[in-house]
Amino acid sequence: MHTSYQLLIDGVWRDGSDGTKVPVINPATEEAFAEVSWGTTEDASLALDAAQKAMTSEWAEWSPTRRGRFLFSVAATVRRNIVELSALFCQEHGKPPHQAAGELEDAARYLEYFGGWADKLTGMTIDLGRGQLDYVLREPLGVTVHIAPWNYPLDIFCRSVAPALAAGNTCVVKPAEEISLVTLALARLFQEEGLPAGVLNIIPGPGAVLGKYLTEDPRVRGIVFTGSVETGRKVLEAAARNITPVISMELGGKAPSLVFVNDATELDGPAGGAAGAIAWNAGQSCGQRSRWYVRRDLYEPFIERVVERIRSLKVGPATEAGVSLGPLVSKKQYDKVMSYIQIGMDEGARLVAGGGRPEGLGDKGYFVAPTVFADCNNSMRIVREEIFGPVITVIPADGLDEALALANDNAFGLSSEIWTSDITTAHTVASRLDVGHVTINGSAAFGFEVPFGGVKHSGLGREGGPEAILAYTRLKNVWVNLK
Ligand code: NAD
Repeated sequence: MHTSYQLLIDGVWRDGSDGTKVPVINPATEEAFAEVSWGTTEDASLALDAAQKAMTSEWAEWSPTRRGRFLFSVAATVRRNIVELSALFCQEHGKPPHQAAGELEDAARYLEYFGGWADKLTGMTIDLGRGQLDYVLREPLGVTVHIAPWNYPLDIFCRSVAPALAAGNTCVVKPAEEISLVTLALARLFQEEGLPAGVLNIIPGPGAVLGKYLTEDPRVRGIVFTGSVETGRKVLEAAARNITPVISMELGGKAPSLVFVNDATELDGPAGGAAGAIAWNAGQSCGQRSRWYVRRDLYEPFIERVVERIRSLKVGPATEAGVSLGPLVSKKQYDKVMSYIQIGMDEGARLVAGGGRPEGLGDKGYFVAPTVFADCNNSMRIVREEIFGPVITVIPADGLDEALALANDNAFGLSSEIWTSDITTAHTVASRLDVGHVTINGSAAFGFEVPFGGVKHSGLGREGGPEAILAYTRLKNVWVNLK
């Protein structure tokens, strides 16, 4: 049976003003299982009005402590509802259940982390000498607009909405066209926990219309964007119109992983990491380690080890037990990844695993087999461009200097990784990688307490950590003549 989802504007669930409803497709079956109302610019305007009004109504009376406690209570509710939310998430996105539940846990952690910050934001006083008092107020920005992609919708929703609310702002959120039900389901929990009307508004719909409208509007005092570089440029241009602060822009990535372990007996860690890069979220991650630069003498053993590892990855619908990779999120994404696989073969890379639909899954569902390309080089498009699927490239490197130069030779600069048991190598590489995020001997620390974000085309600003919440505030200096 179909279920209908609506927009949230000023505390009220409603259809979009022109009545548009769009079917929501399960990417494992290609069948519609629900429908969602899409908003218009008229709805976006109502949401901005509501968010603006909320800045000076009941919400303004909430103390920071109350805002923090509220976020804790939503986190607890997310955990209480994790089974139902995960089921919806698997159906809408295709993620296997353990990954859907993992993202919901991440969402709860963002709410708790930033909830804990709500009552710790302070201003300061500045001593200008006798007869003068100078103090600095830390205030919320006002109405913030949050534009999200489809790959980690709940993680990304909570990592920006939580600090925005903790700091006393109001929010208008535009989820991605592909995935909005889970965001709407989460927003319902915020409403049920007693968030005043207008503080959180959710408008699903077309980015080219709604995203453009929201980022160009003068009522907006802060923009958070996660998505592609191409759209990021448009958002920056739109923000320039009203000099709207851009809180953060998390754009794409093409993360390198450098394998410089001592010998073949130490290849299990990096080979497992490569299999994980393919499997987790079916490779649809901005931080996916997609370029593997491997010490030349360990290059072939590494490839063998990776191929062995990925044989045990089960591809299938989230409803099947033991699945490591679900389908890609949409037909568009499936076609894009398939076209990159063809590009890789045309460019002369050696296909050592995968390369198309996995066997035994029929012709329904956007499934792509774990794919490994060897004998790649930095001039290939499959090495330079973001594929955003279960595909990795492997490249031999003659020494660390060459590997570092190749790793840094990319327009993106988000995540990266080094595998080594030598402590000097580890920290030298960490300091020389031109990125915002480095992991040593494994992939973790993407959120909450630590700053996550990129350099170069990967974006600006940081999510997670104290700097993230400060970006949702502005400073006001007050001088008093005491004479
Ligand atoms: P996208 O740029 O196509 O869309 C992102 C969002 O922007 C969507 O909500 C879309 O509707 C909206 N949008 C489209 N046109 C717009 C416009 N003119 N103005 C304002 N908004 C507009 O990206 P996507 O395909 O949904 O997501 C994949 C991209 O996101 C990848 O490049 C990925 O690396 C990146 N990403 C980055 C991070 C990170 O933290 N760095 C995290 C997740 C995804």
